[in-house]
Amino acid sequence: MTDKKELIEFQGLMIDTIIFRQGFVPGCDIGICGGQCCDWGVYMDRDFQSVILKHETKILESMDEYQPKDKAKWFEKELVRDGDFPSGFALGTEIYVTSKGTTQCVFKDKHNYCSLQVSATKNGEHKWNIKPKYCILYPLTVVDNILTYDDEHSKKLDYCGADKEHNFTQTVFEAMTEEIKYVFGEECFDFLEKYFIKNYKKKYQIENLKIKEGTNG
Ligand code: SF4
Repeated sequence: MTDKKELIEFQGLMIDTIIFRQGFVPGCDIGICGGQCCDWGVYMDRDFQSVILKHETKILESMDEYQPKDKAKWFEKELVRDGDFPSGFALGTEIYVTSKGTTQCVFKDKHNYCSLQVSATKNGEHKWNIKPKYCILYPLTVVDNILTYDDEHSKKLDYCGADKEHNFTQTVFEAMTEEIKYVFGEECFDFLEKYFIKNYKKKYQIENLKIKEGTNG
């Protein structure tokens, strides 16, 4: 999707309006996609590593027999300087080779679930309590303080990817209401929702209908 970048602002956060135009599937469905977006691991804030490690024992209890149990194998060794993370540094989760010979994030289990989320849920915490922010937000991302659509990552995905228009039923913004509220707060979400309804909602529905009926372009 080629798009001219148009930005709006909420309390210092810039928002690329592509999130109101880019289509997405009815929702994340691991039964269909197998959690493919987790196959490369994720970058998280350097300091979030200690948050995860505080829960090491409980995370281990949620891992399956194939996932690496040695915490020294959970994170990359090199930090990456990145101003989009609060500490100024990003740290990647490691990947491992599965029993099928494929690779995926160390925290993704054989049923394609995230052990961080499974562990939190099992222990009565909020499901995203120890999940990296960029995992929660995907297919949204924040680059150079701009909330936008992660088109690079999404090009690799077979179900919800940027060129899978035949699977789209709504915009990325509509699909990500819970996630936006969780990460950026209700006030930010309300601002975005008003903007979406005023400027994009109807237009997207008409465009989407054209794609479904094969009359686009
Ligand atoms: S931490 Fe969890 S959600 Fe994030 S990439 Fe790894 S398995 Fe996926």
